[in-house]
Parts: sequence; structure tokens; C-alpha cells
Amino acid sequence: MFAPNLKWENIDLKSMIANEFPFPVAIDNEANSGALGEKLFGVGKDASNLIYVSAGIGIGTGIIIDNELYKGSSGFSGEMGHLTIEVNGKKCSCGNRGCWEMYASENALLEQAKSLSIHSDRADKPLDIESLVKMADDGHVEVIHLFNTIGEYLGIGLTNIINTLNPELIIIGNRLSAAKNWLINPIRRVIENRALPFHRKQLRIEFSGLNIYSCALGASSIAVSHFFSENNITVE
Ligand SMILES: [Zn+2]
Repeated sequence: MFAPNLKWENIDLKSMIANEFPFPVAIDNEANSGALGEKLFGVGKDASNLIYVSAGIGIGTGIIIDNELYKGSSGFSGEMGHLTIEVNGKKCSCGNRGCWEMYASENALLEQAKSLSIHSDRADKPLDIESLVKMADDGHVEVIHLFNTIGEYLGIGLTNIINTLNPELIIIGNRLSAAKNWLINPIRRVIENRALPFHRKQLRIEFSGLNIYSCALGASSIAVSHFFSENNITVE
């Protein structure tokens, strides 16, 4: 219905795919599929209440409450990338200003790196998160500082989520998980300093072990469960 980072509005993706392939098609949000993937196959297996944060081009979140994906009244829950974290902040593609994903996504990281004139070490390859991680590992002070800033902003948004939903587990996945070692300390520091103490007490923060595949695995599980339910097959 609305994917501002792709500039899509009211695109009938389901019919477009159904016209190409002779199979039933189900459509869901990338962060919801990622949350399912983590719950079924990843670090979320043992958690009943978890938030999967998909930090890529933008930020999306999948919310699992009491072992069920929470989809909202019309299926649009979890757009926490558009939480306002800077009142007069940067303009976002959603129409608002100061959205979380303008400060804590892969896009934010790459844009800030460009504005600091940090370039890819290879002329044939645009700057990406992997090369920034390598620069930080090699001791590039500006890049380390940049990861620190992105990590702090991630921590700010996560604090709002923690205080609202009191999850037992937060899983950070998608592209930014490649920078896990540089992001985890500022994230933990901000949450330690800012989140409410009772909410913080039994909270675990993990990066996805499934890396960029949590969404694909979750989407596969949606296809499998559709097949079983449509054919009235149950598995004990
Ligand atoms: Zn926004």
C-alpha cells in the first residue's frame, strides 16, 4: 500500500507476481517476515515477546506478542522507523520530519559517511557497510565515531520501543547487523542510561544470527503454512 523508500503507493504487487507464476502468492511486510524467521529459526526461538528490528535502507519492526505476530487492525503495525526522534529533524520520505530511520539506518550511515568525504577504497565499487566495517577495524577514527553515532541513535529508538512494549528480546537484523561489533556498545550504553529500569532488567539484545536471511526464512514459513492450511493438513 505504501513503501516510501521504494516510492510505491497502492501498487498491486500480489497480482503482478501472481500473473508471472502459477502458484498462490502471499504478501507481507519484510520486517514481519523477519520477525517470523527469527521466532521459528533464529535467536528468537525461546522468546514469547520479541521485537525484530530490520535495519537496512530504512528501519522496520516486526512485533511478536505472546508468540503471535502482531499486525495491527489493518496489517500496518511496526512502522517504528517513522518514530519521531528529532522534532525539527531531517525530512523523511513518509512526509514527517526527524524519523528514526533518518538517523539510524544503513542509508543514514552511508549518507553521513559521504558528507564526511569518506569514500570507498575501490573506484569500481560504491561505499558500502562492509567497507566501512573494514575501515573501522583498521582504526579509521572518523568511521568509528560514525558507527558510534548511528549506534546511539539506534539505542534511542530502541529505548522508546522497550518502554512501550516491555519485550524480553530485541533482535537487530538486516544490513546493519554486519556492523554488530561496532554498534553493540553504544546501543547497550544508551539503553542502560535511558530505558526504564524494570523494562531493562530481563531484556536481551541480540543481533540476528540468520543475518540477512531472517526475512527469506520467515517468508518461506508463510508459504508453507498457507499450503498446509489451504489443503487442511495439520502436523502434530
Ligand atoms: Zn518517516
